Amino acid sequence: MPSSLPKRGTVLVADDDPVMRMLMLEMLAQVGLDAIEAADGALAVELARSHAPDLILMDVEMPRMDGFAACEAIRAGESDGTSVPIVMVTGGDDLEAVTRAYEAGATDFVSKPINWPILGHRVLYVLRASDAIARLRVADAQNRAVLAAIPDTFFRLDRDGFYLDYEPGHERPGRGRVMPQPQACIGKHITDVLPPETAARVLEQMRTVLATQQVRSVEYDLEHCGEVQHFEARLVATSPSQVLGLVRDISERKRAEEQIRRLAYCDSLTGIPNRQAFLETLERELQRSKMGNKKFAVLFMDLDAFKRINDTLGHNAGDALLKMVSERLRETTRPSDLVSRGDGSAGKADHTTNLARLGGDEFTILIPDLERVEHALNVATRVKEAMRRPFLIEGNEIFVTASIGISLFPEDGDDCGSLLKFADTAMYHAKNCGKNNAKLYSSSLTMQIMSHVKLEVGLRKALQNDELYLVYQPQRDVRTSEIVGVEALVRWRHPERGLVPPTEFIPLAEETGLIVPIGEWVLRTACRQARVWQRHAQRTLRMAVNLSAKQFKDENLSQMVHSALLDAGLEPRLLELELTEGTLMDDALATLATLEQLRGIGVFLSIDDFGTGYSSMNYLKRFDVRALKIDRSFINGLPQDSENAAITRAIIAMAHGLKMVVVAEGVETGEQLLLLEQYGCDMVQGYFLGHPSSAEAITGMLQAPMLLPAK
Ligand code: C2E
Ligand code: MG
Ligand code: MG
Repeated sequence: MPSSLPKRGTVLVADDDPVMRMLMLEMLAQVGLDAIEAADGALAVELARSHAPDLILMDVEMPRMDGFAACEAIRAGESDGTSVPIVMVTGGDDLEAVTRAYEAGATDFVSKPINWPILGHRVLYVLRASDAIARLRVADAQNRAVLAAIPDTFFRLDRDGFYLDYEPGHERPGRGRVMPQPQACIGKHITDVLPPETAARVLEQMRTVLATQQVRSVEYDLEHCGEVQHFEARLVATSPSQVLGLVRDISERKRAEEQIRRLAYCDSLTGIPNRQAFLETLERELQRSKMGNKKFAVLFMDLDAFKRINDTLGHNAGDALLKMVSERLRETTRPSDLVSRGDGSAGKADHTTNLARLGGDEFTILIPDLERVEHALNVATRVKEAMRRPFLIEGNEIFVTASIGISLFPEDGDDCGSLLKFADTAMYHAKNCGKNNAKLYSSSLTMQIMSHVKLEVGLRKALQNDELYLVYQPQRDVRTSEIVGVEALVRWRHPERGLVPPTEFIPLAEETGLIVPIGEWVLRTACRQARVWQRHAQRTLRMAVNLSAKQFKDENLSQMVHSALLDAGLEPRLLELELTEGTLMDDALATLATLEQLRGIGVFLSIDDFGTGYSSMNYLKRFDVRALKIDRSFINGLPQDSENAAITRAIIAMAHGLKMVVVAEGVETGEQLLLLEQYGCDMVQGYFLGHPSSAEAITGMLQAPMLLPAK
């Protein structure tokens, strides 16, 4: 039965009394233990060495070498921390023997008379305990090896923040020692070891760790000889009242992160912050300004002719220009220039991120702590000035201008996306206003754009919905007062807005290209009307139709004019096309070709709004223009405005010299009419002589030619 028990180990029984040995062997066998025997201490030492028993039962009194000496000898022979459990068998109440046994290195003792039935169990118990100790020792050794292998610093804190343990990690070579040493920590409070703010954060996290039993980490910086090192302490609860901390030097990681951040946030061409960086700066500024009730401005700058430079000088030159532009912007947007703070914190602002390149030739500037809108406009002016100095690139002096849009927080919007978009919109508005401009985005601008968009949608439908119609303004011969011609003027009756003036929708139609179909409709309608008057009134009335620059550039123009005349059955000499100086001067060669075609058809040409553009008389001669229409602005001040009077007279004289007919526009008074007559003006048009009117009204005027207001 006992022999069927699993083998639990081997016990060395050292006793000089063979009866005792035999009994012990028997008892050990009962609990499944093997045994070897030694009759004296010396033999016991030898067997312990050669057989490595799992436990030794050692009598105190033995010949040759007593139990104490044998125990000491065995202990002395043990190496690397292994330790066989030795149970000494002492005399009854020999207390001194017990003490000596422990001193000699014994693990436990049993005293005589031996309680035989429980001896085996006692031995088993000691075996188990020593086994557990051995396992702990291995685990402990492993832990130490692990701890030695990783570079972290370890510490243990009690719940009040006192160091229980402290084991400094490996310092990196070449680095100053910033972590404290054990003697400076153990027994001390954390606030005596770490800077107060850092200590407070660690303590706070420690309390959370103890409360939640979850791992927490704290990052902090320590400075040593002017160099800042970054650390991360991870805190783990090891008991309800203790926290283990592992501290790692994360300086390298921080540096790598910083490097990555720089790459991700930096425009590689110019070295200034990129779109991403700007958006984040903007977001921070937005939050800061919201909290502090402050204002800021976003400037959006775009170079006016960057594409031309890229196309003509190549991309290298374009890149070089962008670099120089960003350099100038950097100089112009130094924080002292941008910020007018009274608290002296201006110098601390990370000004480099106030400037960014969004991409292409688009740059943005953030102006924080704006006190007055004028300040943003001043920065814009300085930026424009900075761009005006020529850029020297590959030996070429390059001149550029910039258009700038400005949006304001909180007036224009209260989110980054809107503010950036609005600054962009304002920039486009600035460009439309003639480039090299700076414009503020304002709610009124939004309204303007919104209504612009609405109007465009409406204008697209205007033609098919029959919302357009023509009115005609009479042109009279100065000498006979007869109506010799009319100018067709388009009108738009908007279903909601009512009458929209052509000064509002014609530019929109030009911008969108809608002027081409609208202009065609005007021309065809006017031609048909002219034909009606010719037939019924038996009068040769010249029909003047305005032609926009866009139409003039349309390659189908002459074909369209031809077909309109043909469809209406109107003689070409009864049609006059009004062009502005700008239209003619835009591209002289192409203009000549188009004019040649129109002349081929047989229509007349006149120059509208004359005097407001830059055309030279010589050009006009080449273009074979029949008439000049002196712009209303010259006639306006007559007869009092002597300067305009002189100009009017000169234009009339020059035009006559070139055999051109002169029409005065905007004649509103009899005095003006008289003066123009004196100057020899050929024809007049204006409210004094007839408002733009419906075809029926004009028909009426034609039938009653003598009803003229007195001069
Ligand atoms: P415009 O060709 O110079 O036309 C003369 C403008 O002066 C007309 O304005 C007319 O109503 C106005 N006017 C005539 N007499 C007087 C006067 O005594 N006093 C004042 N203050 N104004 C007078 P409207 O009809 O508003 O047209 C404005 C402009 O819109 C035209 O200037 C023309 O450039 C353009 N436009 C009108 N109809 C058409 C069209 O069918 N096609 C194109 N392309 N442009 C058109
Ligand atoms: Mg006109
Ligand atoms: Mg005009």
